[in-house]
Amino acid sequence: MRKSIAVYPGSFDPITLGHLDIIERGLEIFDRLIVAVARNTGKTPLFRIEERLDLARRALGADSRLEVDTFDGLLVNYVRGKGAHVILRGLRAVSDFEYEFQVAQTNHQLDRGIETLFLMTSIPYAFLSSSVVKEVASLHGPVDSFVPPVVREALKKKFFSGNLLHKDSDHDP
Ligand code: ADP
Repeated sequence: MRKSIAVYPGSFDPITLGHLDIIERGLEIFDRLIVAVARNTGKTPLFRIEERLDLARRALGADSRLEVDTFDGLLVNYVRGKGAHVILRGLRAVSDFEYEFQVAQTNHQLDRGIETLFLMTSIPYAFLSSSVVKEVASLHGPVDSFVPPVVREALKKKFFSGNLLHKDSDHDP
């Protein structure tokens, strides 16, 4: 029997409870889910690619239906290479829609065999984003209701050890 595989791509800088919610719900729909952490995010990430991968893996734990991977270049090429036909994305407020619509249309034009499916955010996470989490953590506010404990600890380290002054870039050798 052919297994349904979906790819859930994103920056995951860092992974939040909103992401975990989409992943859990995605696993109810698909046989396998690949969480694909983008190597290049467009913006300078707080966490290096290895850190974002590691945090996602530790937050998700072992599950044979889940893979946490990294990707580079055109998403549709990656999705096709993985034998998947679905890109899974989450939608929060209306403000997400225009950008997501544009990207989904572009990806569909690049590869007609790949569909983007959206899951609406769960209400408790409707206003949760990695950026908000980073902002709260940088101001030393509590992030317990936004991220899993491993991420909370990693944020603490970033913002308490002065690491920010030497923020790593993904482009470092
Ligand atoms: P990107 O830079 O690709 O938007 P993100 O890590 O910010 O990467 O988000 C990855 C995906 O997860 C996107 O589809 C985004 O809309 C979704 N997402 C992020 N936060 C939430 C949330 N709180 N609820 C639902 N979906 C979310």
